[in-house]
Amino acid sequence: MSAPVEKKLGEIHSKILAILKRPGGASLFEVREILKVGDSQEHLGRRLRDLYPHHIFNKTVKGRRLNYEWLRERPKGEWDYSEISKKDRASVLHDAHGVCQMCGKTIAADGIKLNIDHKIPQEWGGTSALENLWAICSGCNEGKRSFFATFDTKTMKQVLAFGSVHRRLLEALRLNSGKWFDSDFLRFVANFDDYQEDWQKRIRELRYFGIEIEVGKMKVGRRIQSRYRLVKDATTLPKDLSAAARKYEAFRAARNRVSR
Ligand SMILES: [Zn+2]
Repeated sequence: MSAPVEKKLGEIHSKILAILKRPGGASLFEVREILKVGDSQEHLGRRLRDLYPHHIFNKTVKGRRLNYEWLRERPKGEWDYSEISKKDRASVLHDAHGVCQMCGKTIAADGIKLNIDHKIPQEWGGTSALENLWAICSGCNEGKRSFFATFDTKTMKQVLAFGSVHRRLLEALRLNSGKWFDSDFLRFVANFDDYQEDWQKRIRELRYFGIEIEVGKMKVGRRIQSRYRLVKDATTLPKDLSAAARKYEAFRAARNRVSR
């Protein structure tokens, strides 16, 4: 593990911060216009991300752009500064074999560039440990960033704090009842505490509690991905969803043995 690193902030960072502190905040596009920087969007984005360890922003989607508005300073000690080690970086890239692990596009056939990405964002408590890293293309990286940005950090941390995998999945689906969630997002939520070999089954098991979840398909790059949405919620639920699901599974297995 490499030593914690705190990035030095320069004049450009203060300028960006000043703009985002204005009422209503601004999008990166607007920041670029105001600062008149002939900089690439990514460069400015990186500078903005340098501010995350120190400041909390409210991110909302406005039209086609993501809007950032300064909320407050981040409490000290909340940010995980550990950086990705060179060894882990190389190992993640090696294991990807030139394929985006999210959409399946390849360097050879599609000319993509692979980026090392935190599966669970650092803001939500994701670490720079190997199991939280993967290699994804720039398109997926951007898409994921704006998707994740629509959930605020505090809410996400509350969802991820549930010890029961069933409960975490349900609370995540409840964040946007009736809307689709892609399987990558739900896989993160399921795997947050412990590795779930069959997290899809955990979602299906929610129906034992009268919860209805619709499963759909969508095309992401070369892959067909599943997506899920909460159609009907339950009014009362057992305290420990996972224990109750296990109990019901055992009961079903016993019943099936009898009827055979
Ligand atoms: Zn991709």
